[in-house]
Amino acid sequence: MTTSAVHWFPAYVGLGSNLNGPARQLASAFELLTEIPDTRLLRRSSLYRSAPFGGIEQPDFINAVAALLTRLPAGDLLRELQHIEQRRGRERGEVRWGPRVLDLDLLVYSDQRIDDPDLVVPHPGIAERNFVLLPLQEIAPGLSVPGLGLVSRIRANLNEPEISCIG
Ligand code: ATP
Ligand code: CA
Ligand code: CA
Repeated sequence: MTTSAVHWFPAYVGLGSNLNGPARQLASAFELLTEIPDTRLLRRSSLYRSAPFGGIEQPDFINAVAALLTRLPAGDLLRELQHIEQRRGRERGEVRWGPRVLDLDLLVYSDQRIDDPDLVVPHPGIAERNFVLLPLQEIAPGLSVPGLGLVSRIRANLNEPEISCIG
């Protein structure tokens, strides 16, 4: 019998949708997260409604955050997330910050800091996005984001959130 020496790493994923029944999209995405190999879904946050940003006229977003434990390296986990986006009908070549059926961002991966062309971790938008910080604080209040510090501290620096928890 062989035993694996591979560690389990904590990872946090941001979920977002504003097309085709966003709440249903997120419920389905949480289910698909449970099917990623060598990975466990530990916690799912409530759903949050937020106004879109980026200056594009589009429906409100529904956002949430998932806490995972994974044995996959960060790059492999990102590919699994992109595979789920595609299974839910995400189209390539969409406008950045435009409407989408499902967006899965790798927010935090263990204590790692990665700066590759196709993967930046921690995700660079965390500090400015209440739709990430609120659900992240809900499920991981003691989390320290590499380079940024405690989630609760980052939130304290932001103005009033234009976001509501919808359960
Ligand atoms: P944002 O990243 O600002 O939230 P977005 O989610 O709309 O914008 P996408 O079009 O979904 O951006 O992704 C663009 C590229 O971002 C992807 O091809 C992916 O390789 C890259 N990327 C870099 N870092 C990450 C990360 N931490 N999580 C997800 N994608 C990332
Ligand atoms: Ca995103
Ligand atoms: Ca994305």
